Amino acid sequence: MSSIIGPDRIGIEIKLTSRCNLHCLHCVNRDGGPDGRDLDHDLFIRRLREWEVSGEGMRWPIREVRMTGGEPLLNLPGLAAVGFACLEMGIPSGINTNGSLLTESTAGLLREAGIRVVKISLDTLNPCRIREIRGENASLDAVLKGIGIAVRSGFEVIVRFTLTSLNREELVPCYEYAVEAGAARFQVKPLIQAGRAKEIGIRLTPCDFREAVEDLGNRLVPGSVVPEILCSIPRPIPGLAFKACGSIDKLYISSGGEVFTCNFLESTPLGSMQSDSLAELFEIRAARAGKRRLGGHLVLEGCPEYHGRA
Ligand code: SF4
Repeated sequence: MSSIIGPDRIGIEIKLTSRCNLHCLHCVNRDGGPDGRDLDHDLFIRRLREWEVSGEGMRWPIREVRMTGGEPLLNLPGLAAVGFACLEMGIPSGINTNGSLLTESTAGLLREAGIRVVKISLDTLNPCRIREIRGENASLDAVLKGIGIAVRSGFEVIVRFTLTSLNREELVPCYEYAVEAGAARFQVKPLIQAGRAKEIGIRLTPCDFREAVEDLGNRLVPGSVVPEILCSIPRPIPGLAFKACGSIDKLYISSGGEVFTCNFLESTPLGSMQSDSLAELFEIRAARAGKRRLGGHLVLEGCPEYHGRA
């Protein structure tokens, strides 16, 4: 098994909390509600400093630290602490959020903490459907307001659309909205069969997914954002960018400190932040994370998206 991670820059995704203000019907982590646990962010920062002083940065350079959840804005102390530590060490950082809790003052704090990227989920422009997808507490106005604040605050804003049978006809309108709002990037992700998504039957067939993406390719806004189609084997559709696997060079740390390759893979942990240094975890990942070629593209073994595909 050849080593996946050489001097390539590694992305680290950390789950700052499993608490969430929404309750998405396709949540991979089955999160939702006020009860949950927060990451021991002090330990994570200690692991980062350990990596920095160990000189392992040459062998294992870190591309970015991305903070996610649950809803990371529910753990502002952890978010700020990790952001400032990354800033100090020159490591780019960002957050993945549902956007509904983003205010001008929070955006100010994120900027101060050196956060550069804000990825916001937008799956519909229909105020009723957003409650169907993201739970009774979801407000479309709050999410759209969050996107506006993020753009005005100068973050690199990524709008992420999870494509299902519930919102297939909204792909193009959401893309157009993201372009209009000034988003820097627009991503489309299929509904990966993991977590709650396994039980709800709203996944598009590969054929319907391809048609929806082709339709998007035919309705692009000239000279603007190139939509990125994630977790999808590249297709010759002009104007679209594909990424077969976004976790091929990533490490995912759960709020409990367990470490995986990808959040969507239901696999045994590679290790834990409590017992292993980051350099050790990178080594373990390089040695143990299975990968394979699909249509000439590297994907992770065990990914539900490519299950049964040769
Ligand atoms: S492992 Fe699968 S779900 Fe995870 S990023 Fe790769 S393709 Fe997507």
